[in-house]
Order: sequence, then structure tokens, then C-alpha cells
Amino acid sequence: MPELPEVETVRLGLEKWCVGRTITRVETLHPRATNPHSIAALTSLKRAHIGQICRRGKFLWFHLDRPYALVAHLGMSGQFRIQDKAMVDEKHLRVRLTLDNHQELRFIDQRTFGWLGLSNFDGDVPDFVKDIAPDIFDPAFDRKALKKILQKKKSEIKRVLLDQSVMSGVGNIYADESLWLAKIHPQRSCDSLSRAKIKALLSSVESVMSKALLEGGTSFDSLYTNVNGESGYFEHSLEAYGRDGENCSRCDTQIRRIIVGGRSSHFCPRCQRL
Ligand SMILES: [Zn+2]
Repeated sequence: MPELPEVETVRLGLEKWCVGRTITRVETLHPRATNPHSIAALTSLKRAHIGQICRRGKFLWFHLDRPYALVAHLGMSGQFRIQDKAMVDEKHLRVRLTLDNHQELRFIDQRTFGWLGLSNFDGDVPDFVKDIAPDIFDPAFDRKALKKILQKKKSEIKRVLLDQSVMSGVGNIYADESLWLAKIHPQRSCDSLSRAKIKALLSSVESVMSKALLEGGTSFDSLYTNVNGESGYFEHSLEAYGRDGENCSRCDTQIRRIIVGGRSSHFCPRCQRL
């Protein structure tokens, strides 16, 4: 599943290929590709001019010369590709936006959890995004306020990290990696963590995600490729996620896998004590 670093890589690709273009034709090929709360059909995008492309957490949006935005979520397997018109359609092509340079912006999604939709603005962000908290790279991210919230939360830290209304963009992989780096057990109750531990955790989240951003995100899921069709390669540097049964690189103890909040959690039982 694409996480924040992958989505940011996609945003950079879209920015490179789509900003300044006008959409000349729209074709939707699957009903689930349109968000049910979209304020209008995607075909209303005809003749829209594409401005800035933004991201919050895993949501992307295209500013248009319209009062609404085109919002996109990649879901489990969504990808954007820029293709020449002449290129044969991909098997799971869901939406085709033809651009005024005769290229096509294609939305491809095998599992159909991804979507596109039109959304009015609520302040600076589209309605679809208004309940999503800023991610750690967002200028609106308030580190002090977040530390206070974390100190009071009575739930398991892993669940809180995945809660998009607290802090967005930390998915399962980067939650496990950040907890490993900060030496915190995924089931530790948030309010039991010292101020220093919370500070260390936020630094870990930042460093793990920054590293992933530099490397173009992870892509162990072969369904996922970025806007240019290239996969990331961050999976080679994962320390905890998906490494159950292998040894911790810090202390040589076997990494374990447990379920926290319905999600797989990988941790070192020696470095990350409960
Ligand atoms: Zn260890």
C-alpha cells in the first residue's frame, strides 16, 4: 500500500507532468474510481486548467481554475501514469484524462480502493481532507500541540501513530520502523511514555520518513509504481517491518510479529520492551 513517501513521489511526478496543462477529455472506465461524495462527475473536468498539486498525508489534490479541487487517493494499489495517447490501455485502467499536449494522465488501480473526486474547499484544503491532521512535513504541523495530545492518549502507541486525525501519513510500515528506531514497544500506552520518549519518537518518525522520501518511498508491493512507472527501493533498508524471524540489527534478537489494532506489528522484544 502506498504510504506518504510514495504519495509524495507521485505528487512530484504529477507536478512535473501536469501543472499548466488543460484537460481536454475525460473518460471514466469503472464506477468505483469516482468517490461517491464527489460533487460532480469527473467529466466536469473537461477544459479545466491544472494549477498547483498538493498533498496532505496520503491525499493528493489538483488546484484547478475552478472553485473546487480534483482530489485523489491511491488506496491499496492506485497509480498514476503519463502515457502517450497511442499507448495501449493498461488492464486496470480506471480513468483517462487527456491533456492538451496529447498525453494522457491515466489512473490505474487493480484493487479499486483508490479514487478520484471533486471537492469544494474548506479553507486551504478540500472538504475530503479537512479531518486529516497535518503530516510531519506540513508547514501546518504543530509539534508542541501533538506532544501534548500524545501525553494524554490512553491507547496503544501503534494505534495512535496510525490515527490520521492525530498525525497523518504514518502508515503501517513507517510506524513499525519509527517505533523500532525509538525503541518503543508498539503496545505501550501513549500516556506511559516520558516526554523524552515522545520527543525521540517524533524525531524517529521524521528521520524514517525523510529517508524514505529521499529514496522515493518503499515498494515491496509490485502493484505500486510511481508516476513514471518506476518502483522505489527503500525496502532494502527496513529494520523491523516484514522482518519477523530475522535478527534485529542492533542486538541480534529475533524480530517478532504481533497484531495491534488489527494490523501486523513487527518489533524487537529486547530493544522494545513493554
Ligand atoms: Zn533489538
